[in-house]
Amino acid sequence: MQRYPIYEHFYSFQGEGVHMGRAAYFVRLYSCDVHCPWCDSAGTWHKDWRPDSVAMMTAEEVAALVDPAAEFVVITGGEPLLYPLKPLVQAINKPIHVETAGHRKPDCKVDWLTVSPKLYYRKPNPITMEQASEYKFIIDSEEALDKLWQLTAPYYNGAPIWLHPEWSQRSNPDILRLIVAAVKHPPYPAKFRAGWQLHKLYMADNLDPNARREAVPLGGDPWKGMPF
Ligand code: SF4
Repeated sequence: MQRYPIYEHFYSFQGEGVHMGRAAYFVRLYSCDVHCPWCDSAGTWHKDWRPDSVAMMTAEEVAALVDPAAEFVVITGGEPLLYPLKPLVQAINKPIHVETAGHRKPDCKVDWLTVSPKLYYRKPNPITMEQASEYKFIIDSEEALDKLWQLTAPYYNGAPIWLHPEWSQRSNPDILRLIVAAVKHPPYPAKFRAGWQLHKLYMADNLDPNARREAVPLGGDPWKGMPF
């Protein structure tokens, strides 16, 4: 029977993308094979932040966690596509949204697929990239938009591309100006949108006692994201 490593689960609102502001139950799966230097979920993979224990749950046990008032369930990570999600999708009686880096293929259809391609893996998975309901680019340098577009362009399906300042650079005027310019005058044939992580301003996730309280962002230190 498939069991899932549950790093944390909590009731909050979706703070990003098209569904921003809607009540959502989050299930964060443990482990990621990408290792971004600024990862804000480093507790799911980084050797310095690994938790002492991670609960292993069946799909039915995960489904029982979900608050009935949630509009949908977000399966995130870590990298959720490391696992076969079909049992989870079948067990949860809510629309399923999945957030992935886009280098692995889902084993089933979901209601919403947010794909955030990363420069820290070798190649995207064409099927995942083409199935995206929305894309999310994390802008951590002035070159990031160009590089992420080159990665995405062969598979781009016309969905919105959200441009998020990497959180530790959210006050960097160069990064913010770059995003504003791309929205006003897109440098490529795509729908660029200015994005943010609204839940962090509200500290919404931490209001749920089930969320892990410790903040473990890597803060943009490139050495911390290196493979080990
Ligand atoms: Fe993995 Fe990068 Fe997402 Fe962190 S930000 S969970 S390292 S893909």
